[in-house]
Amino acid sequence: MPELPEVQTIVDGIEPYLLNKKIVKCNVYVKKLRWKLQPNLARNIQGFKVLKISRRAKYIIISGKDFYLTIHLGMTGTLRIANKKDSREKHDHFELYLSSNLILRFNDPRKFGMVFYSNDSPLLSNKLLMDLGPEPLESDFNHHYLYAISRNRNVAIKTLLMNAKIVVGIGNIYASEALFLSKIKPQKISKKLSKKNCKDIVSSIKKVLKKAIKKGGSTINDYINVDGKKGYFQYDFKVYGRTHLPCHICQNDISQIKINQRSSFYCKKCQK
Ligand SMILES: [Zn+2]
Repeated sequence: MPELPEVQTIVDGIEPYLLNKKIVKCNVYVKKLRWKLQPNLARNIQGFKVLKISRRAKYIIISGKDFYLTIHLGMTGTLRIANKKDSREKHDHFELYLSSNLILRFNDPRKFGMVFYSNDSPLLSNKLLMDLGPEPLESDFNHHYLYAISRNRNVAIKTLLMNAKIVVGIGNIYASEALFLSKIKPQKISKKLSKKNCKDIVSSIKKVLKKAIKKGGSTINDYINVDGKKGYFQYDFKVYGRTHLPCHICQNDISQIKINQRSSFYCKKCQK
């Protein structure tokens, strides 16, 4: 599942192809992704000029004057830029034909993605985006905030970090990696975190995400980037998916446990 760095990479990747281009045609090939698509979606976005591409949490927002097209990649969604001569592939559910003669295609085998149109900014009008926590790379996500919000929370810190109402865009991979970097075990109960712990976690999250964005995002499954190349970005995970492999710091075996139904990886020696 794409996490914040992957989505940011996609936003950065498609931006030059979409900016200041007109949407000349839109094709929708499914009635439903995660939810039913708006019946007049294709007609409503035709003719608009794209003035901005942005990201909020894992939502990609393509916008122009009084027009917002919001896309969420769900579990398996990808976006790619194609030429007119490139034929549609299996699971390509949505296409934007641009005035540059290029096409933006949304592919999603498991159909957990979302595509919706609005005249108002979804940040101000859509419940899904209005109730989100702060962006992890912005200054309002800081140790004062994490310390305050973790008081009275009986959940594991890893679960707290993966809650989009607390902080957005952090999934299993980057929560695991950031906690390893902060030397805090993922099952530690949130309310027991000290101020110093919160400081370490916040700075580790920012560090891990920035590094991944720099590397072009990363994901475990086959991933098609905007240039249409298959494969996945390389990121040297320290704990994620490394069960029984030696810890990079102490050589102890990396352990795997379940926290809130999710596989969690950590070093028993390094993370307390
Ligand atoms: Zn270790």
